[in-house]
Amino acid sequence: MPAPYRAGHVAVIGRPNVGKSTLVNALVGVKVSIVSPKAQTTRHRLLGIATFEHGQLLLVDTPGIHAKLSRAMNRYMNRAARGALTDVDAAVLVIEAGRWTDEDGLAYAALRDAGVPCVLVINKVDRLKDKTALLPFIAEHTREREFAAVHPLSALKGKGLRELADTLIGLMPESPPLYGEDEITDRSERFLAAELVREQLMLRLGEEVPYSTTVEIESFEEDGELLRIAAVIWVERAGQKPIVIGEGGRRLKAIGTGAREGMQKLFGRKVFLKLWCKVREGWSDDESALRQFGYAE
Ligand code: GDP
Ligand code: MG
Repeated sequence: MPAPYRAGHVAVIGRPNVGKSTLVNALVGVKVSIVSPKAQTTRHRLLGIATFEHGQLLLVDTPGIHAKLSRAMNRYMNRAARGALTDVDAAVLVIEAGRWTDEDGLAYAALRDAGVPCVLVINKVDRLKDKTALLPFIAEHTREREFAAVHPLSALKGKGLRELADTLIGLMPESPPLYGEDEITDRSERFLAAELVREQLMLRLGEEVPYSTTVEIESFEEDGELLRIAAVIWVERAGQKPIVIGEGGRRLKAIGTGAREGMQKLFGRKVFLKLWCKVREGWSDDESALRQFGYAE
């Protein structure tokens, strides 16, 4: 008898920057969730749909669970991460090879409270210089914690993903696929377009300014084969606008080019993108502005 088809939800949890979104993208096989070397790139919950011949995983990518809670935006992100733990069939706790921090402990505690089976993913093993350190590291950090399985892997290099997918599918209930085979996310193209602009902001702005920006899609129109998208980049203070625009408009242009390339790749069609930068004083600590910009749970 063939094994039954299994499908269900898996929350992907961990502190910022451990590679949660990279892992979701690698399992889905398409970049649905934006990635950058900066913490707090992911602000929203997003479903990545990974379909295999014997199962379907609905991977709930989340903002990192983090300790700083000062701004309304940070509170929104923590709610989105913790909220992802309700109604899932399993969770993946992602950590970095060779490091266990207090924030990893915080994420583990949130998982344990939720009472779902938890798989430990030790990501970025490609960065380990001394591979023999891995086994003692695993022994040390799993000794007093409960994991359904432990998977060292590299989301970036695509190593160890198949094994992880098999473990996760084994933890899912018997069920037919919950989404169509060609679906890759629950988010709209409009949402994904805004995220791709935000990814460029994370990549191209320095240390402080990206956290003060958000992106709002003003219009999203199909024009024959072409997609015409207009988006506003919101900043919190007037002084941040020239930083986004750059000398002679060069940075805004580069942001637009990068985002457009990402959109064309994801949507499989030509994109015409128009970008503006505007100021909304203190938006990231303003509950009504947050709702307007789509940060509502
Ligand atoms: P998140 O905040 O947990 O979602 O982390 P991201 O997926 O945004 O990744 C954060 C950074 O880690 C990015 O620069 C990724 O390219 C990098 N990264 C993710 N996975 C790996 C990996 O397996 N190996 C290495 N070397 N880098 C990785
Ligand atoms: Mg992320």
